[in-house]
Amino acid sequence: MKRYSIFGLVKEALNYHKGWERAWHSPEPKTRYDVVIIGAGGHGLATAYYLGKNHNIKNVAILEKGWLGGGNTGRNTTIIRSNYLQDASTAIYEKSRSLYESLSHELNFNIMFSPRGVMSLAQTHHEAKGFQRINSANIVQGIETKYLNSKEVKELCPIINVKGPRYPILGALWQARGGTARHDAVAWGYARACSEMGMDIVQQCEVIGVNSQADGLIALETSRGNILAGKVGVVVAGHSGILADMAGFRLPIESVALQALVSEPVKPILDIVVMANTVHGYISQSDKGELVIGGGADSYNNYTQRGSFNHIEDTVRALVEMFPIITSLRMLRQWGGIVDMTGDRSPIISKTPVENIFINCGWGTGGFKAIPGSGWAMAELIAKGEPGRLAKEFTLDRFKEGRVIDESVAAAVAH
Ligand SMILES: Cc1cc2nc3c(=O)[nH]c(=O)nc-3n(C[C@H](O)[C@H](O)[C@H](O)COP(=O)(O)OP(=O)(O)OC[C@H]3O[C@@H](n4cnc5c(N)ncnc54)[C@H](O)[C@@H]3O)c2cc1C
Repeated sequence: MKRYSIFGLVKEALNYHKGWERAWHSPEPKTRYDVVIIGAGGHGLATAYYLGKNHNIKNVAILEKGWLGGGNTGRNTTIIRSNYLQDASTAIYEKSRSLYESLSHELNFNIMFSPRGVMSLAQTHHEAKGFQRINSANIVQGIETKYLNSKEVKELCPIINVKGPRYPILGALWQARGGTARHDAVAWGYARACSEMGMDIVQQCEVIGVNSQADGLIALETSRGNILAGKVGVVVAGHSGILADMAGFRLPIESVALQALVSEPVKPILDIVVMANTVHGYISQSDKGELVIGGGADSYNNYTQRGSFNHIEDTVRALVEMFPIITSLRMLRQWGGIVDMTGDRSPIISKTPVENIFINCGWGTGGFKAIPGSGWAMAELIAKGEPGRLAKEFTLDRFKEGRVIDESVAAAVAH
């Protein structure tokens, strides 16, 4: 594949853009692969990429029932940060955040990473204490983060109303190196790099049956024929329970719809990301000028990829309290994604009860930021058969052993 460069862009502009080649191949699936990844979201594609790059395993297929990046990866509000509470979490999220910094260069694909700073508002004394605790943990862990008072919040975000009617802003946890990236570009960049390594990305290919054979191979029944795999990585987010059921095991996962919406585009008014857990809303401004707004998760399990009206109302009300300037904005569209929630709000990167089947899920409302680190850790697990440093705490046994990694304050609704 041709490298993208400024010279190529100029050449194509002069050629009326007629010479661009497809960014990735769309091959027919083969009947056998060393590794099959189910799910071409960011985590599945990143897993395949690091299998090739770090472990030289390239006879790999990535099977996707829809279109690549069409799951939660293309539906999220793109917040990236690493200021969680527990050591295991900050290790993997910080690895991920740092990989994001050079990902455009590495993939030769502009993922538009923008480390503009992420602010998590404290609006109750309980929340302020929680964030101060995270800030102290982050100092020990070497994660650059800071607890701000309300005056500093106002300085960084002049349009915010710190004296809100219901919940005045008491302070905030601030990660200056956090930010956003373009979500589909992350999927597209990894897909292009996988395709370049000779891997097969097969879209419109739903896995409908998973059977382990006596010889250790895994037989996958798909909507485009049967495929044999030496190893299988299940990376399907909200559909993890369904795939686990096909393979014959259960997961401690609940699937719920989480939703987001965007406004019409306006001139630049907000150059950081602001999250507010108490009133339940978070907001940033895209490069096009739209306000990207995230809301809450449904309180019941479901697989609908759309939002519900009560959330729109709650979210918009919360944000209007904090940002009166947006009161007269029109909303353009809203959508939902099916997120995979664990009880401790931490992910699962693990072997499963079925030999040669590995699972990566449980990223819930906050896994976009984790894509590079998660792919790195999952690739290591699949290649070596055992979790490495980043994944070793996130195995399934923790639920049996009561060794939970509690991130409910750091994750909460917010990402
Ligand atoms: C509204 C919303 C806002 C969010 N905001 C943020 C945020 O700001 N920051 C953040 O860090 N995270 C955020 N998240 C969470 C984040 O989007 C997810 O954690 C992350 O994208 C999960 O990526 P994934 O690759 O695991 O899953 P997905 O992108 O969902 O990919 C899984 C893929 O598996 C495919 N699949 C499922 N079943 C099968 C099958 N049987 N056969 C073949 N393929 C199958 C699906 O079609 C899908 O494409 C948000 C999520 C939502 C919904």
